[in-house]
Amino acid sequence: MLGYEQLGEGMRPMIAIAGQKYSKLFSPLDLGFTKLKNRALMGSMHTGLEEAENGFARQAVFFAERAKNGVGMIITGGIPPNFEASGHGAKLSTPEEAAQHRLVTEAVHAADPDVKICMQILHAGPLARTPECVAPSAVKSRIGAFVPQELDEAGIEKQIADFANCAALARSAGYDGVEIIGSGGYLISTFLVEKTNRRTDRWGGSFENRMRFPVEVIKRVRAAVGPNFILIFRISAMDMLEGGLAREEVIALGKAVVAAGVNIISTHFCWHEAFVPTIATMVPRAAFTQVTGRLRRELGVPMITSNRINMPRVAEDVLVRGDADIVSMARPMLADPELVRKAAEGREDEINTCIACNQACLDHTFTGRLVSCLVNPRACHETELAFNPTSVPKRIAVVGAGPAGLAFATTAAERGHNVTLFEAGPEIGGQFNLARKIPGKEEFEETLRYFRRMIAVRGVELRLNTRVDADALKSEGFDEVIVATGIEPRVPNIEGIDHSKVVGYIDAILGRRKVGRKVAIIGAGGIGFDIAELITHAGISAALDIDVFAREWGIDFRNHPRGGVTGVKPDVASSGREVFLMQRKADAVGRNLGRTTGWTHRLVLQRRGVHLLSGVDYLKIDDAGLHTRVNGEFKLFDVDTVIVCAGQTSLRKLYDDLQTRGIKASLIGGAFEAAELDAKRAIDQATRLAAVI
Ligand code: FAD
Ligand code: NAP
Ligand code: SF4
Repeated sequence: MLGYEQLGEGMRPMIAIAGQKYSKLFSPLDLGFTKLKNRALMGSMHTGLEEAENGFARQAVFFAERAKNGVGMIITGGIPPNFEASGHGAKLSTPEEAAQHRLVTEAVHAADPDVKICMQILHAGPLARTPECVAPSAVKSRIGAFVPQELDEAGIEKQIADFANCAALARSAGYDGVEIIGSGGYLISTFLVEKTNRRTDRWGGSFENRMRFPVEVIKRVRAAVGPNFILIFRISAMDMLEGGLAREEVIALGKAVVAAGVNIISTHFCWHEAFVPTIATMVPRAAFTQVTGRLRRELGVPMITSNRINMPRVAEDVLVRGDADIVSMARPMLADPELVRKAAEGREDEINTCIACNQACLDHTFTGRLVSCLVNPRACHETELAFNPTSVPKRIAVVGAGPAGLAFATTAAERGHNVTLFEAGPEIGGQFNLARKIPGKEEFEETLRYFRRMIAVRGVELRLNTRVDADALKSEGFDEVIVATGIEPRVPNIEGIDHSKVVGYIDAILGRRKVGRKVAIIGAGGIGFDIAELITHAGISAALDIDVFAREWGIDFRNHPRGGVTGVKPDVASSGREVFLMQRKADAVGRNLGRTTGWTHRLVLQRRGVHLLSGVDYLKIDDAGLHTRVNGEFKLFDVDTVIVCAGQTSLRKLYDDLQTRGIKASLIGGAFEAAELDAKRAIDQATRLAAVI
């Protein structure tokens, strides 16, 4: 059986002192045969635990930790109803497989019997990772691995029967309901749009024919599970696909699946191939809920909305506006399993907010790695990473309040160590203070707000404006010293690198040096891209204004043309600077950016006219500009400013001085290793060390 002791002392009842503040969020929802205790839903996310070793036991602890902390309903990651639906073995099609799911449902109901848990049934259709994948027509997805096999009548009947069988098995395994995903470019949605459904039989052609498959699936699932079982249909409310679903079609489909037996409609705003970001950090909070609101007025069943709802205030506002009945938060529940409890107890300033970076969740999913969370490395690692109270409290000095130092200090203090955190600068954050100044990365401030609060809550002694050296640390006699001094920008060895045209990226971000109209950026890593974004940006950040965001990505929320997208060239504001973003490598520029977000950054810069150049040798910088050889040919860029973003080197002087004096010290974050450093690695390494020190 499960080790429920791993759930910790948080089993205590919630004290709902913020009930008034979030009265909608914490109001129950009566579904007739059952009741949701509140409107906070943990949305479905594939974590990789579904296929991992001991995956069910690990999922049980993962979900139970969220259940005991106040969430009203949980939807699991997508479970395929048969082999061809995914290409991997995590399917649910036999009673033996159903028995394993009991670990999950029992753990959740033991954590709180009032929490509902529904299993998502996901048939990936043409996106399944097997040559046996199926679809209404043999149309390969741009992001699929195989050309799907076109289903014949018998094949369609088999898929419908497998959905119904899977739902009945989910019921037998103790789930309170199922969610059927009818969006995203997966099987059901490929029946719905002409682009992927070329059939001329009763399953293709008119919209009535194209929606026959989802309607039949719902009818058969309802018949298999009986009336008193939650049945949710995830609809492509706005699929962001040129030629995608029209508004009238979404309404017609919604009405038809409700008539066929659905209790709740969940709105999805995605087709994985579409060229519109819908969950990245550059997307404004709750940008898409208005679409749910308009649909809600037509359908008359409880509706779930989602996407970039990461704080209780945002969720409450969405509900108060009447945009939805239930608010789905998926990634925010990775970032903080206690989100709902903290909201209920008026401790929202303690919420570890999801910053929508995708770096440890979706980027991992799409590269076959187990999901976690940049700001919470325990996510999906609950059974191996624990913060148990220490039996030997130590006096620990942490030097540097960047992400690594902050994560270490607050975790070690949580365990009962006596921690002093030294920071040379006037505020905590390190390079995150630079990151949050980039348009589209405003969310990064939430991480700093969280750490500021945790420093106070956990009693870390913070000494700002204090650049410590080895002698000062020695004189205070700490038991342990953690060196989290970070990095310094690399100064490349180029003739004229000290010319007055040359500006470091820190000075550029902080506005300490003027940047001209024509600019070369040396280095096209994450920071080079961020600098290009910063200096070509004009007006309000699209991440803070839904109308600007809609204009930049060609979305028409008001008229809802097919897919919700206008198809006309997006209107992207630009500062008018001419910018050359360069790297030495011959690879395509931006290739190493995040798997699920890199394309958005490349597209934005291209639309602003930024020149992306690879294969560049830097020869010299002088009054005339930057002299280079590009793919073998000499070229002068007559720029006003050259901004250097050429990576970093570790700042280790303090560590070396401590070693010389025989003082025991540990290195974390950028001070440990600057190459390929990011905040995900810095926080993960720091947290893991703090868990065992
Ligand atoms: P740092 O953040 O460099 O912090 C080190 C701290 O130590 C500093 O505050 C410094 O003042 C202090 N210090 C140094 N010496 C001393 C001393 N002797 N005494 C006291 N204090 C001292 N990463 C991502 O994962 N995703 C992103 O989207 C992302 N975007 C970024 C955008 C920009 C513009 C920048 C600059 C960075 C970005 N990063 C991003 C990188 C990320 O911020 C770093 O990987 C991370 O900050 C490294 O953390 P760290 O704690 O090791 O070092
Ligand atoms: P980076 O990603 O390693 O990029 C450094 C760039 O400098 C590369 O383009 C590199 O390309 C170039 N370079 C390296 N040595 C050079 C030299 N001696 N002379 C000239 N050019 C040189 O590092 P970064 O951009 O500084 O970012 C630091 C870390 O922060 C990264 O690891 C990144 O993951 C993280 N970050 C992430 C994001 C995000 O959105 N996820 C955003 C910002 C930063 P060539 O060698 O080909 O020239
Ligand atoms: Fe949110 Fe980033 Fe964590 Fe994913 S990795 S849950 S996007 S903070």
